[in-house]
Amino acid sequence: MGGGEWVKNLDNKVIFGLRCFFAAMTVVAALYFLAGIFLLPKEKVNAPDRVEEFQSEWVRVFPDGSEAPIEVPGKCEAQPDDEVVIQTALPTNLQSRTFLSIQSLRQDMAIYVDGVLRQEYSTADTRLFGSTSSMAYVFLELEPSDSGKTLTISTKSDSFYSGTFSKVYIGDRMGIWENYFKRYSIEVFIAVLMLLLGAASIVTSIIFRRYYKQKLNLRYMGWGIVISAFWILFNSMLRQLMFPNLSVVSDLTFLMVMLLAMPFLLYMNNIQNKRYQKGYAIVGALEAVACMVCTLLQVLNIADITRTIKYAHVGSVLVVGYIGATMINDIRKKYIKEYLVIAIGVLGVCVCSVAQIIQYFANAGNGLSGIWIALGLIFLLMSAVVNSVKETAQAEQERRDAILSSEAKARFLAHMSHEIRTPINAVLGMDEMILRESNEENIREYAQDIQSAGRSLLSLINDILDFSKIESGKMEIIPIQYDLSSLLNDCYNMIALRAKEKELDFRIENNPRLPKRLYGDEMRVRQIIVNLLSNAVKYTKKGSVVLKVDGTWEKDEILLRISVADTGRGISIEDQKKLFQSFQRVDEKNNRGVEGTGLGLAITSLLVQQMDGTISVESEYGKGSVFQVKIVQKVLAGEELGDFAERYVRPAESDEHYQESFHAPQAHVLIVDDLPMNLKVISALLKNTQMQVDTALSGMECLKMLQKEKYDIVFLDHMMPELDGVETLRNIRHLINNKNAETPIIMLTANAISGAKEEYLAEGFADYLTKPVQADVLERMVLKYLPGELVQVAEPRIQRVYAPEKKVSWLDRLCFINTKNGLMYCRDDEALYKEVLKSYIKEGKSGRLSELYKQSDWKNYCIEVHGIKGSSVAIGADEIARRAKRLELAVKEDDIAYVRAQHGRFMHEYVSLTAKLEEVLHEE
Ligand code: ADP
Repeated sequence: MGGGEWVKNLDNKVIFGLRCFFAAMTVVAALYFLAGIFLLPKEKVNAPDRVEEFQSEWVRVFPDGSEAPIEVPGKCEAQPDDEVVIQTALPTNLQSRTFLSIQSLRQDMAIYVDGVLRQEYSTADTRLFGSTSSMAYVFLELEPSDSGKTLTISTKSDSFYSGTFSKVYIGDRMGIWENYFKRYSIEVFIAVLMLLLGAASIVTSIIFRRYYKQKLNLRYMGWGIVISAFWILFNSMLRQLMFPNLSVVSDLTFLMVMLLAMPFLLYMNNIQNKRYQKGYAIVGALEAVACMVCTLLQVLNIADITRTIKYAHVGSVLVVGYIGATMINDIRKKYIKEYLVIAIGVLGVCVCSVAQIIQYFANAGNGLSGIWIALGLIFLLMSAVVNSVKETAQAEQERRDAILSSEAKARFLAHMSHEIRTPINAVLGMDEMILRESNEENIREYAQDIQSAGRSLLSLINDILDFSKIESGKMEIIPIQYDLSSLLNDCYNMIALRAKEKELDFRIENNPRLPKRLYGDEMRVRQIIVNLLSNAVKYTKKGSVVLKVDGTWEKDEILLRISVADTGRGISIEDQKKLFQSFQRVDEKNNRGVEGTGLGLAITSLLVQQMDGTISVESEYGKGSVFQVKIVQKVLAGEELGDFAERYVRPAESDEHYQESFHAPQAHVLIVDDLPMNLKVISALLKNTQMQVDTALSGMECLKMLQKEKYDIVFLDHMMPELDGVETLRNIRHLINNKNAETPIIMLTANAISGAKEEYLAEGFADYLTKPVQADVLERMVLKYLPGELVQVAEPRIQRVYAPEKKVSWLDRLCFINTKNGLMYCRDDEALYKEVLKSYIKEGKSGRLSELYKQSDWKNYCIEVHGIKGSSVAIGADEIARRAKRLELAVKEDDIAYVRAQHGRFMHEYVSLTAKLEEVLHEE
């Protein structure tokens, strides 16, 4: 055994020794304490008893001077408000500092020695309410010279105590108090204990509620115990030593008694799951009325509380009786099992109450102490604590189970998303190949249907994923810097086509002074707007859909007001209430033909909530709806947004025939995925770019290939058996003989969940692509990361979409432009359109533009390119128009680098477009 080991063992032994020592000493101390109380003789440290009961012959003196013997303690016949005078002779051997102590029993008192007034007690001048003085011990100091003199006590009270006397004590002051202290200290001790326990229960339930969002039923029980504690404390005869104004505590004693039943009623109502709430409401109200009446009568000095309290007691008895009745009913109906522990506690209180009554009668009504009831209540509190602990443990268990199951659900969803997206990826990818390679019209139509069904299936899966992510609290708001104009641009592009198909007037109106650069979760803001816009388009048959964007902003914060107004079918007032609930579709009758899950608005409103924003709807059935969202975003210093409608940049029409955007025969890319189908799809999507594509089926294979070959880009799938994408990347970073240390690695993932991108980037991926991979996004991604020298701009090819044997019109042969738009601008007049096309060719500006480019005359370049944009829009050459507009904007924004990068390609396309137009028109 090494030295260190030995020392470690020694520690353990010492700690064990300490534990034994501590336990043994605790037991010894306890035994010694018990022996001191029960076994060992009493040590005579106290002075001999300095108090005794004053026993004497008493007579009652009537107003007419006649006398009759009476018993003290005892009660003489007297009506309330009668003055009762009693007399006796004082002992003959009085020493100095001897005191008599007489309990007032709610009577005013005057004490005379040999006819001289020596002591008076009345609270008439110091109390606020009531007509009787509260109970107190009245002390009379006697001198040796008082020996044998006549003691006269005169009492008066309008309570039923009138003419009642309890034991009189004689002794020194200390002795008398010691006597009382012995009698009453235990109840004070118990009251203080109850006060602490009750307060602890209340505080605990507040803490649980506030910090753990858990409702403990202990609160009312705590209040019940605190009220009882105050009752015992205020009622104790030691109160004279504790409180300066006895009338106040005496009044409060009554108030406590009246209130006492209330918290227990509320407690039981909760514990019994509000089964008897109606009954409790009735008896509670009765009790409250009785309490209020008694209090008012006392406060207005109409009737003393000592007389009216019995009515309040009736109320309390009613409450207690009702609680008992409900419990008996619960026993019958077997509900009692739900709160058995509490029922045992209540039984404890009943037993203790019986004990209390027995003690009261055994004491002949002398000194009403609440010790037994107090013990019963403490027992009840303990049972309530046990019950709460049980409930809390149960709730905790349920919470854990819920977390486990929600984690399982989230895992299942992530998994499912991957599993479903992968085959859809294959379907859509292969479908894309059909669209590219087939020239048969009906096949292309089928393929287009597959594409649109596939895409709506994908968006459905995304919705469900999003929803469960938000529901389970896993969707985080991830703020980034973003550009409001590009966000609006995206929204517009995503909706415009659908709006156009339905011939709706779709436009964006914005406050041009809005700040352009913002900071927030761009993706989620976009999702909110697109959801609202898609609904507006979906539920509108004719008219318009308008997205309005405005806001109120200060230096670094803006309250964005985004509204989407449509002229659709509108939503009735009742339906508006359920609009934001999940899976809730409204107006089902009219919506039958419209696709939807009823999740869109639920997701939207959850997202808005997560951004601490608000969403509202105003709608008139049959006329249209306006949805408005208000969210706060941070403002980054910078320019203004400008008028969106003017600056809008339109994307390529998506129904255009595919044309690869570049060729890169020298480029070498590697695709890694465990599914051969995926490899096939992505390779096929890249085929036309003429790149050299290698594939690997696993992370290990990828590592081997990276050691052999140098690649320009690597696409790496995330979910693979053995080494997954992230692990593979980590291994690549540590690869010896790595030829691809600098190669951008792009994550291929079916994980479309928000926040995933940031995680991948943090892992060291250059970028990420979601599956199913879209051909144009893939190409753009490749273009972004491929070294510029490897890229050649693709020559546009004329695609003959239709079978050659078919007789095609000259318009059909213009399939490379959007003839529908072109014709529309010519009011569908084919001859006019032809003329317009001819002049477009004739006015060709390529030469002039090239010259201006060479001279770097940007001002005029801008003018020319603007002209090309306008005339191209007019003939339906949307792609050229879009490129021209981009160039124009770039010049305006002084982004000459962009112009230099794009000019060549633009010229090429522009020239070949005019050439093709010429060819078609010439043949015509
Ligand atoms: P869905 O997938 O059914 O569109 P949403 O949650 O987006 O689900 O919308 C819930 C319901 O609200 C829809 O079924 C539709 O009846 C109604 N609704 C939403 N937006 C509009 C609107 N702009 N005009 C009329 N009705 C709407």
